[in-house]
Amino acid sequence: MTSPGRNRSLSPRWVVAGLLVLGLIAAAWFYRSQMSIPAARAEPPTAATEGPTASGATRPSAPAAKLVVDRSAGDVSTRPRNPLDALRAFRYLEQICAIGPRPSGSPGMKKQQEAVQQHFEQLGGKVSLQKFHARNPLGGENVSLANVIVEWHPDRQERVLLCAHYDTRPLPDRDPNPEQRRSGVFIGANDGASGVAVLMELAHLMPQLDGDVGVDFALFDGEELVYVDGRDPYFLGSTWFARQYVRQPPQHNYRWGVLLDMVGDRDLQVYQEQHSVSWRDTRPLVKEIWATAARLGVDEFIPRARYQVQDDHLPLRNIGKIPTCDVIGFVDAFGQVPPGYWHTTFDTPKQCSPASLAKVGWVVYEWLKTQKSKQR
Ligand SMILES: [Zn+2]
Repeated sequence: MTSPGRNRSLSPRWVVAGLLVLGLIAAAWFYRSQMSIPAARAEPPTAATEGPTASGATRPSAPAAKLVVDRSAGDVSTRPRNPLDALRAFRYLEQICAIGPRPSGSPGMKKQQEAVQQHFEQLGGKVSLQKFHARNPLGGENVSLANVIVEWHPDRQERVLLCAHYDTRPLPDRDPNPEQRRSGVFIGANDGASGVAVLMELAHLMPQLDGDVGVDFALFDGEELVYVDGRDPYFLGSTWFARQYVRQPPQHNYRWGVLLDMVGDRDLQVYQEQHSVSWRDTRPLVKEIWATAARLGVDEFIPRARYQVQDDHLPLRNIGKIPTCDVIGFVDAFGQVPPGYWHTTFDTPKQCSPASLAKVGWVVYEWLKTQKSKQR
């Protein structure tokens, strides 16, 4: 930028040219600001030409709209719109968190169970509880647990399993405050509620899912009924589910499993998980999902491995022989793996955003739709 003193000798022609350039910059800025308004909308900028945005902003004035069309006509016009409702997905997350802590066997878990069962049934899912018991790590009576299974299009033999854990860790045992580690309240907004919220939002789209591949949702209990690492076992629900699948094989077959965990971070970065991308049977699934994200322009999915996590996909794949990949954003806005707020009192809805939930759901949904075309 030049200092005002040097502009004195400018000719009128240059002034006119300068004004034109400024006008163009202003129009471009206006267009960009339209694009960045919708924290809650995950679709590409075609939305800017289609009327009010979710945040209530009105459509841009004619010159800016023209600029949008000129600049983006090519690839954006061929992209599908995100059919998920980001704000509604986020409300689900908030509602679940408002219940309070939801560790296995707790009153909070019971409330959540009732809430999700009612939600999925209202939308036409066939809901069942897969009940079982596990040793209480604190001693005393066994803990009652239940996986929630939701079937969509139960008549279809070839199926996909979409899953998430819905229990929360009993304590925030990585909190910076030692007092909190012993007796603090763990809400599990990203670690717990985010995966559930995405499935609750996806449920709206399941009844219309055509093709011949059916979908089951599984909400796993007892993913982390863990007070002491190394002593208390993880993955109780998914292990139970996988064993049942092998012991009493159902009529249907799971072609793939997709696990959603920690998918709500407001600065979402979903790298490929090391196990999922290195197992030979799940690598093609990882490639498909990240390719879908690339096709949609969801660049929060980064197509390289960055972390290896133990999660519910291990028993599903190792015991149940269901090739399952983990879709997990195990990094925070500062690039920390694991996220700094992980297993602390700071894992609250503030860490999450509507857009992140909607983008993950969109990738899964568009990937699901590719499953039908394969059989045609
Ligand atoms: Zn956890």
